[in-house]
Parts: sequence; structure tokens; C-alpha cells
Amino acid sequence: LRTASRTDLATEAAPSKGTDKPRSDSEAESRATASPDLETQSPATAKPGPDRLALASGGPFELPAPYLAFSRPFAEGLEQRGSSFYPYGTTGGGEYLLHHGVDIGNPMGTIVRAVGDGEVVFAGTDAEGPAWGARDERYPEGFYGRLVVIRHAEAVEGRPLYSLYGHLSRLLVQRRQHVKAGQAIAAVGSAGIALGPHLHLEFRSAAQDYMATLNPELYVANLDGLGLIVGRLTDPAGKPLAKIDIGLYSLGDDGRETWIRQTSSYPSERINSSPGLGENFVFADVEPGRYRVAAVPGGGRLTGDLTVVTGRPSAILLHR
Ligand SMILES: [Zn+2]
Repeated sequence: LRTASRTDLATEAAPSKGTDKPRSDSEAESRATASPDLETQSPATAKPGPDRLALASGGPFELPAPYLAFSRPFAEGLEQRGSSFYPYGTTGGGEYLLHHGVDIGNPMGTIVRAVGDGEVVFAGTDAEGPAWGARDERYPEGFYGRLVVIRHAEAVEGRPLYSLYGHLSRLLVQRRQHVKAGQAIAAVGSAGIALGPHLHLEFRSAAQDYMATLNPELYVANLDGLGLIVGRLTDPAGKPLAKIDIGLYSLGDDGRETWIRQTSSYPSERINSSPGLGENFVFADVEPGRYRVAAVPGGGRLTGDLTVVTGRPSAILLHR
């Protein structure tokens, strides 16, 4: 988890446009040749396609790669799940900064693995050169401290996909190095804005753009025996409703609800739905079974029931 500050740094710290002067010629060369599109890009314009969530609401549906195609960043036997208290696009109930990734807790020094094949486009500290996260003078060590960024061959709607690993204690790769899925790239730490040792895992569609993040839980493979809930909460006109608490309940045979956990819908800015999917909330790593998703976006309780199965995503639409 990151700082306990209630201030959202991102509102006051615009992402770097890459105007910082590189420190050395070799670094400049590395930036120029390793990834020509490291600079900030404008947000993608998602092509309208079949509305997968609407078509499948209430049950499982197909999500083609690169969704659910990446591996988890830790070896078997270690913690695999992101903090359910602080998912992507939430503030942990107002306790933390708006989250642009997921936090996976493992002890200091635990080996972090690449989630897919790719090329390392950054391995260093974000105190040097352009900022990778929100920039704030209170954190001279940088937002993510030591971090690694990998560019993958996979693309979403024609845009490249990057994975970012933050708060690291040790780096095991260098810029321009090609890595394979599962390869050791770094070790867990608490560098930058972190309260304790954990991995901050992020996916982006533009390397050096804090505003181009995507929900990592849509891109990593399901854990054995578990499923994934992908949802959208909207008003009657189909406009996404922002920052509404959403509860997940398991449904007994008698229809009785048992509270499992909660999240909140994405804010309207700075957090992106995946192109062509349009989700604004996700529950990852869910046991198979019958569930109810419930929200109270003003004017009474809104619910939707769905079935979660192993190894596939399930869709739910909530609207008035
Ligand atoms: Zn984090």
C-alpha cells in the first residue's frame, strides 16, 4: 500500500512529457533506440465493437488475448493476488492515492518475474529523468522508487502494452534487454511511496504516461480454479457512474446473500476502461459460484446476479 495521504497527487502533478534532459549520451541513445514511442501518447479512441459485457451479462464470455494472456509476477507458492482492499481505480475507501495498478504483498527480496516476453524499456529509479508516476517534491526518491518497465509485443486495439513493476529493492535486468515470461527481473522492495514491501504491478498502453494505465487484472491469467468478474455500472443513458461502492455477495441456494468484498467504480478521469470492453469495475480471483453484485448509486439498491466459472471472465451490467 502506498502513502496514507488523502491527497491525490495526480491532480497536481501532470505526467512528464519527456522534456527532461537525458543524463548521458548512452542514456539518450538507449531511449532513442530502445523504444521510439516512449513519449506520451494521446488516449486511444476505442472503436465501437460488439458490447461483450452487455451481450453476456450474467455469465461467462470470451475475451481474446492479450486479455488474460500474461503470467503472474510471482512463482507458485507465493502470494499471487492483488490487494482486494485497494484494487485498480480505487482509493482504498479514501485512505490512499487513486490506484493506477494492483499491489501484491510478498516479503522484501522476493523475486519478481516478467509477466510476458518483451523488451526492458526502463530499469532504474524514477527520481532520475522523467517521472513514471505522479511527481511530488515530498518524495525525492520518486513515486515508484526503483522500477522496471517492459514493452510487450501484444497490443490492445493497435496500441502497445507495457507492464510496470514498482517499489523494487533490486534490479536484475537492464534497459534494452529482452526478457521471457517468468524470467527474474527484480526483487520486491518498498522504495518510493510504499508503506511496506510489496509489488506495484501496472499495465499501460503508453510507456511514460501515468494517465494511460489499464486494469492489470484483465491481462493476467486467471489463477487455477478461479474466475473473474468484469462489470459496468451506468445511468439509464449508459453513462458510467463514477466512484460508487459496489458489493460482491455469494448467493446461497435459498437466495441468501453473504458479503464477500467490495470495490468502487472507476472515477471518470485518470483511470481507463480497457478499449473495446468499457468496464468500470472488476472483481478478480473469485471462486466459482452464484453471485450478486449490488450498488446504491442514489435512488435505491441496484443488483445483478451472475455465475462465475473457472478460468473465464463473467460479465455483469448494472443500470437503472
Ligand atoms: Zn500500488
